[in-house]
Amino acid sequence: MSHFAAVEMVPGDPILGLSEAYVADTRPGKVNLGVGIYYDEQGRIPLLRAVREVEQALALEAKPRGYLPIDGLATYNVATQKLVFGEDSPLLAAGRVATAQTIGGSGALRIGADLLKQVLPIAKIAISNPSWENHRVVFGSAGFEVLTYAYYDAATHGLDFPGMLADLGKLEPGTVVLLHACCHNPTGVDLNAEQWQQVVELVKERKLLPFIDMAYQGFDVGIDADATAVRLFAASGIEAFIVANSYSKSFSLYGERVGALSVVGKDRDEAARVLSLVKRTIRSNYSSPSTHGGALVSGVLNSTELKAMWEQELAEMRERIHAMRAGMVEKLAAAGAPQFAFIQEQAGMFSYSGLTKAQVDRLREEYAIYAVGTGRICVAALNRANLDTVVNAVAAVSR
Ligand code: PMP
Repeated sequence: MSHFAAVEMVPGDPILGLSEAYVADTRPGKVNLGVGIYYDEQGRIPLLRAVREVEQALALEAKPRGYLPIDGLATYNVATQKLVFGEDSPLLAAGRVATAQTIGGSGALRIGADLLKQVLPIAKIAISNPSWENHRVVFGSAGFEVLTYAYYDAATHGLDFPGMLADLGKLEPGTVVLLHACCHNPTGVDLNAEQWQQVVELVKERKLLPFIDMAYQGFDVGIDADATAVRLFAASGIEAFIVANSYSKSFSLYGERVGALSVVGKDRDEAARVLSLVKRTIRSNYSSPSTHGGALVSGVLNSTELKAMWEQELAEMRERIHAMRAGMVEKLAAAGAPQFAFIQEQAGMFSYSGLTKAQVDRLREEYAIYAVGTGRICVAALNRANLDTVVNAVAAVSR
């Protein structure tokens, strides 16, 4: 008998399963809105010009591939800190932030989870209801009990802010609170600055530990505006918090696995001690991050010219998403479905469309349009060529 005889089949990721079904679909004009990827107007994953410039220069240099330090490329980490906390951040000036390059935003979440488990072994974590499904998986497998707090209000397709405050207010001191900085996945529903300020005050009063996941910085309004939550926590006097950020979307570098974990400590000394523990945690996991993606991001962020080019390209991506949201709402209204106006209020790549599981099934079966069973659609997969198809199908299944 094999040592693995007792292993049972684990259910696959439903979203990846959806993509497989999409690929196998032979109907012309099929559309995949199930993904979590930004596509350009031609339906392609963009390779940003700024990234290409760095990549070509790196290819010409043809440097040997040694290991990076455990915490990654120093130039990457410093540039990341400025982007996440702001150029003039007093926290950075005070040396209170420990940052490590990680294997994507997912790696930052996992290293952050493993770090917290060592420091606060009995703490629980609360995530939004709903949240990115991997939040539960990552923190659960790191040994956390995962609680939820109210977030999405299905009736308004917006934020249940009173419910959120009430639930956060009930958490025990020391509970970790996972917050989406912007472009909430899967709902597209975000807090405004005043609401963030109230959350910051509540978190401070209840002595909770904020863990901010920022996977879409620059995908809604801009680099600084989308980091409002981080900046408000930084200014709050709260001594410790964590930020996981990802460049997968903002640099269109999904497979390069580029992200970072930043831990804010009380002072320089605390940050240095935390960094030593972050490094041990990484060392015991994957040892050190990958070189190429880090070099690309660092190359862009550390060149004034390329950074400006990237910011322009990032702006083009978010403007295209805004245009698709506006176009979808306008065309749906014209097709007799004005109830989708809220799609324009939501932010980022995703929208909780309010479509039911049965409607999503009909979209797939009758119209070859793929969406997640929860009704989540990727607005960033729409373009002028597929928008009418999608709108007509959504209007038809909504009648
Ligand atoms: N957090 C959220 C909310 C996400 O949506 C994603 C990506 N889907 C991640 C983290 C992980 O990012 P990465 O692909 O860089 O691991």
